[in-house]
Amino acid sequence: MLKLERVDACYGSFKALDAIDMTIEAGELVVLLGANGAGKTTLFNTVSGLHRPSAGRINVAGRDVTGAKPSALVASGVVQCPEGRKLFPDMSVMKNLWLGGYVHRGDKRAMQKTLDDILAMFPILAEKKNEAAGSLSGGQQQMVAIGRALMGRPKLLLLDEPSLGLAPLIVKQVFETVAEINAAGTTVLLAEQNAYAALKIASRAYVIENGRLTIEGDRESMLGNEAVRKAYIGA
Ligand code: ATP
Repeated sequence: MLKLERVDACYGSFKALDAIDMTIEAGELVVLLGANGAGKTTLFNTVSGLHRPSAGRINVAGRDVTGAKPSALVASGVVQCPEGRKLFPDMSVMKNLWLGGYVHRGDKRAMQKTLDDILAMFPILAEKKNEAAGSLSGGQQQMVAIGRALMGRPKLLLLDEPSLGLAPLIVKQVFETVAEINAAGTTVLLAEQNAYAALKIASRAYVIENGRLTIEGDRESMLGNEAVRKAYIGA
């Protein structure tokens, strides 16, 4: 589904991603662990076309998409759900969701079908569909952000820190939702600081440090890895 080969990304002369090699198979749920500033968002923005790589190749579903525009990547099934949700707070929940469906290019029937599926998945959003997105709780706003991404019918969903700032009980619900989306067939790359909860639903994980992937492995090996436990999981 996704293959990165020796990908670099820079901000001016600062190299934020350094020779990233990453492969994600269709159907996987893979976690990207890293501290603040390690390069997770830059990696996501580079895959989704928001940031141009300065070296390397990016392949999605067998096609070379290096340097492709975000709109082309959305059309090929890569959808990013950004850190901090980035909703339009004064617009209704419904309008926020509808915006994520622009990829359907005016096919209102397809959009309505996707919207119905999403509202069935998040009944609370159906209840609050006419309320301003900014008036919802943090967890509900995260559901809107995830729902908006799903409106693009992603094959590969890039989820950037969906649990950020949420209460533990809500975090649990968010992870259950992510597992459900993956079980329904969407490949997921999940950036998280909440390492233990993320690893519990993932098949594999990578660790990024200072723009380099330093550790990778399946869930069990990551959970048992001393360095991973020390840096990201704690006791
Ligand atoms: P966080 O969890 O804090 O968002 P992150 O792992 O997503 O962290 P990035 O946001 O990708 O990290 O940042 C990687 C590095 O690139 C950091 O050193 C950051 O300061 C730098 N950086 C990010 N965006 C820019 C920018 N627009 N201009 C210059 N440097 C940037």
